Amino acid sequence: MKKLNRHPFLKKGGLMLAAGASTLAACNNTARNIDEAPAFDPNKKYKWNMVTTWPPNFPILGEGCNKFAQWVDQMSGGRLQIRVFGGGELIPALEAFDAVSSGTAQIGHGSAYYWAGKIPAAQFFASVPFGMNAQQVNAWIMSGGGMALWRELYEPFHLIPFLAGNTNAQMGGWFNKEINNIDDLKGLKMRIPGLGGRVFERAGGSAILSAGSEIYTNLERGVIDATEWIGPFHDYKMGFHKIAKYYYSPGWHEAGTALEVFINKSSYESLPKDLQVILETAAARLNLYMMTELEVRNAEYLKIMRAEGVDIRPFPAEVLAVLKETTKQVIAEMAANDPKSARVYEAFKSFKEMNKPRSDLTEKVFYNEIS
Ligand code: CA
Repeated sequence: MKKLNRHPFLKKGGLMLAAGASTLAACNNTARNIDEAPAFDPNKKYKWNMVTTWPPNFPILGEGCNKFAQWVDQMSGGRLQIRVFGGGELIPALEAFDAVSSGTAQIGHGSAYYWAGKIPAAQFFASVPFGMNAQQVNAWIMSGGGMALWRELYEPFHLIPFLAGNTNAQMGGWFNKEINNIDDLKGLKMRIPGLGGRVFERAGGSAILSAGSEIYTNLERGVIDATEWIGPFHDYKMGFHKIAKYYYSPGWHEAGTALEVFINKSSYESLPKDLQVILETAAARLNLYMMTELEVRNAEYLKIMRAEGVDIRPFPAEVLAVLKETTKQVIAEMAANDPKSARVYEAFKSFKEMNKPRSDLTEKVFYNEIS
């Protein structure tokens, strides 16, 4: 028996060798690319502009971009200097993608669902309603094959995307009327981006996409009836609790929204290899920074909101069930009309289904039964 057991192992070892050989071939390709990158020159300095979709110095998200620039400066010994612009400072917030695509700026930060008008499938790299949480989204993009698909989507726009942040699970948003059943959403004008917005419209509401800086005034003046934003920390800072009656949870539309750095391909390729790796490394650190900061601040500010008597309510299960069913319809139609969306959704869904038995046995048990 012992001898028999060795066979699969040895066979696997052989497969690993074969895989090793192809990895080696890939390494050789990489080596050629490194040779093609401009040579290291300690005296050559690069000055880049970073455009972001966030209000200037916006807590955690905008501040994180400032830190990103600082880390790159420090790691490169000042050879790559990035000046960060908030939305509206150099260009309007939602024009960041075009600005970096055309080379007006070299680098940007935002979230892929803002570009749904150009690339519907990009939304899978930001948030899918009832989709995956931050941990799962990170796993899919970084280790589960998502990144290659994402790069393919941005290639025609001469951009390279990097994972660079996650909001973690968001809240459902601010309303001035009670949401007791799905009919309560009918006719409601709500600021809600991405696929969540499409689902909200199908459920009878009207979805409006606006940059963060405009939301408070729009809600206060009645241009919109409701809004979602991020979570307790940012929502409290925006002051929504002063102008809306109810704060609903959960953020069914954004269970773990990924944020991105996107870099103009020519600008990236003009850098020596070490600066390219520094950018990639700083993006990975930014991803972790945003997740950990948000986890802490949201917990603190939820406590503050409760102490101040903010009326926090769960969406009724019936409403969530209808929204979930509507999400399936919206995505099925999207996939039927756009082959790229179909392909990316298939990859997204198969990763989620592959991961589910594991998360059901572990995190789900902790959340439901033990914690
Ligand atoms: Ca949001």
